Amino acid sequence: MQNLDVVIVGAGPAGIGMAMELGKVPGLQFGVLESDRTGESFRRWPTQTRLITPSFYSNPFGLADLNSIDATTSPAAFAGAEHLSGVQYADYLKFVADTAQLPIVCGCKVLEVNPDPDGGFHIVTELGELFTQFLIWACGEYQFPNLNPFPGANLCYHYAHIEDWQSLQPIKSLQAINNLESRPYIVIGGYESGLVSAINLVKLGHQVRLLVRRPTWDLPDETDPSLVLSPYTRERLRQMESNDKLEIVYDANVIEVTHNEDGSYRVHSANGCFWDTEQPPILGTGFLKGGGAIQIKDLWIVG
Ligand SMILES: Cc1cc2nc3c(=O)[nH]c(=O)nc-3n(C[C@H](O)[C@H](O)[C@H](O)COP(=O)(O)OP(=O)(O)OC[C@H]3O[C@@H](n4cnc5c(N)ncnc54)[C@H](O)[C@@H]3O)c2cc1C
Repeated sequence: MQNLDVVIVGAGPAGIGMAMELGKVPGLQFGVLESDRTGESFRRWPTQTRLITPSFYSNPFGLADLNSIDATTSPAAFAGAEHLSGVQYADYLKFVADTAQLPIVCGCKVLEVNPDPDGGFHIVTELGELFTQFLIWACGEYQFPNLNPFPGANLCYHYAHIEDWQSLQPIKSLQAINNLESRPYIVIGGYESGLVSAINLVKLGHQVRLLVRRPTWDLPDETDPSLVLSPYTRERLRQMESNDKLEIVYDANVIEVTHNEDGSYRVHSANGCFWDTEQPPILGTGFLKGGGAIQIKDLWIVG
């Protein structure tokens, strides 16, 4: 059992950024526990995914790069890119952490957190136990996909589980075997991951039908900006506008996916419409509410 002043759980941008700050406090005993690798969330992105927030080396003008985790470093300068891939960004995080010699233990999943009645927390990890006065939970929001947004979602692929769009093998259907024109891929969801899925599939030459409830790229001005499609994705969508491989269906509130007798899939919308496809539909329908904090939900008082 080791005693620390502060334990940070999670070596993503939040955890490492916080550790950089704690490193400035003389004599503070702290450590970062990471279940996998530094920047693991980013390492799991599909190969083609890019940061939507742009990076620019603005530090000399006194303005940190938008994606930097401290005031002196810049992902743009590190990777020489404006929209970094997940691996590039994870490598930037690792570089910053290694250079600052942050005390990070990778491959150390936190299994249990028990508050001590006299203050502090007992932490059980895969590698042993420790005690800390203060606990910083930095386990992210986008690691745990919602795999069950409606009945039949188990027949679909979730965006978070695609490693590389290029290696997605189209299924040879009865439709194709009978030399009939195959039906488009179906992507469900009109926000970042749905749009990025559709854009990547079209780029690979596939016909895509994108089902959205409403156009997140065309919302009233007063809408919370975090609910509006990013300018980067809007730009990429605009480039697709004249591409007849992409069809966008609006007012599609998907309520179920079922299997047809010939092995194809049927996607049902609340308004009674349905669409068939040979390929497992792609879910761009989001992540579990609460994200990584779900793991310690019993420690929170929910109002
Ligand atoms: C496809 C995609 C694209 C995105 N694009 C952007 C973008 O362009 N710009 C932007 O700002 N944001 C973007 N985001 C959001 C961004 O990924 C998050 O905002 C960011 O990762 C949050 O950082 P974090 O440090 O809070 O969490 P994370 O980066 O998720 O880090 C959490 C860490 O905690 C670890 N962990 C979890 N549970 C445990 C445990 N029990 N024990 C030990 N370790 C644990 C994980 O392995 C992980 O390394 C995107 C997200 C996704 C999914």
